[in-house]
Amino acid sequence: MTKILDEVLEANQKYAENFGDKGDLPMPPGRHFAILTCMDARLDPAKYAGLAEGNAHVIRNAGGRASDDAIRSLVISYKLLGTREWFVIHHTDCGMETFNNEIMGDLLSGSLKCATIDASGWHDSNAGGGTTDGKFVEWLTITDQAKSVLSDVQRIRNNSMVPADIPIYGYIYDTKTGRLIEVPEATEAGKAG
Ligand SMILES: [Zn+2]
Repeated sequence: MTKILDEVLEANQKYAENFGDKGDLPMPPGRHFAILTCMDARLDPAKYAGLAEGNAHVIRNAGGRASDDAIRSLVISYKLLGTREWFVIHHTDCGMETFNNEIMGDLLSGSLKCATIDASGWHDSNAGGGTTDGKFVEWLTITDQAKSVLSDVQRIRNNSMVPADIPIYGYIYDTKTGRLIEVPEATEAGKAG
């Protein structure tokens, strides 16, 4: 086993030993809300938003973007599992601000090895064995956090499957302080009608 695999399984054993009555939790989130946020390792929605098991849906992807798949999850979240309020939470210092579609396409063309970043941007080893497939992907990168939150709230709000009475709140998580900072124009765009 790898060290990480060992560590995860050991941690899980400890977690399961103190599982208590959580096995009795119902499937629908008890507090009837959902959060769409970034996969960034510094963000722990359970901690920054005060969640316990069974409370809320947390949908995560690179950037916390309102991709088709994120919207798929949100629609399931309300339609089948009863959430009534949604948050879109992007964050400061997001990795999605460090590249764009063209850069990612070029990096993947160079090789499938890990790229590296320095003051001048991302670099690939160009060791070969890459693929041009990355040039056909919309990577949903970010140039301005407030704008990305706003556009994602708008995209969700304007989706025909999303009912008008679900408010969508737009926030930026500050990785330096742990605070959630509202993007007022996003919350305004997401307000329940
Ligand atoms: Zn991020």
